[in-house]
Amino acid sequence: MRDEAAVARPERDDYYMGIAFAVRERANCVGFKVGAVLVQGDRVISTGYNGTPAGIRNCDEGGCERCANPERFQSGTGYDVCICVHAEQNALLSAARLQLPAAGALLYTTLQPCFGCLKELAQAHIAGVRYRHPWEHPDATLKTQYLELVELFSEGANSAKKGFSQVFTPDPREAWAQGRRRAASDTGHPKQLPSEREREAGGPA
Ligand SMILES: [Zn+2]
Ligand SMILES: [Zn+2]
Repeated sequence: MRDEAAVARPERDDYYMGIAFAVRERANCVGFKVGAVLVQGDRVISTGYNGTPAGIRNCDEGGCERCANPERFQSGTGYDVCICVHAEQNALLSAARLQLPAAGALLYTTLQPCFGCLKELAQAHIAGVRYRHPWEHPDATLKTQYLELVELFSEGANSAKKGFSQVFTPDPREAWAQGRRRAASDTGHPKQLPSEREREAGGPA
């Protein structure tokens, strides 16, 4: 059990993940709600949440045709025609728009990145990823390819890298963040399952 001082002053991972939780409150996708922050030199340089591009009706108001029609677009398909921008993409794009260098930054996100976000983060030279809830593509045969992307953040491969790992900041809004709680959501994000560590601890806090 943490003492009072520790609760009053969170560790860095909990501090930044707590900010990502707050950012997530603005998410407007009917699938998973996700928030992300980019941290450069121990400072937040940009934030992002998932939803339709600015100027288009919000996803939860029917703005994204793919998200609005889960029967037409099976789980894990149709990413190319989904107009929702993911939280991690929005964080990268905000930094680009504001001309803030993101290379070498650490990304905090409330949900483990999808294939699209992970390759973009790697290519933007993000140094590391910290995620709260696990995600995996419904097609398990793609796992090896995903792990190839994860390897690009490996501390072993390059000392400037900061790794790819889950953090366990308590999430008071986990149920809400699951969106419509489908077994696999329209964003290709399957239902969140408790991690091994959470299961051992008797379920999520
Ligand atoms: Zn959406
Ligand atoms: Zn994504």
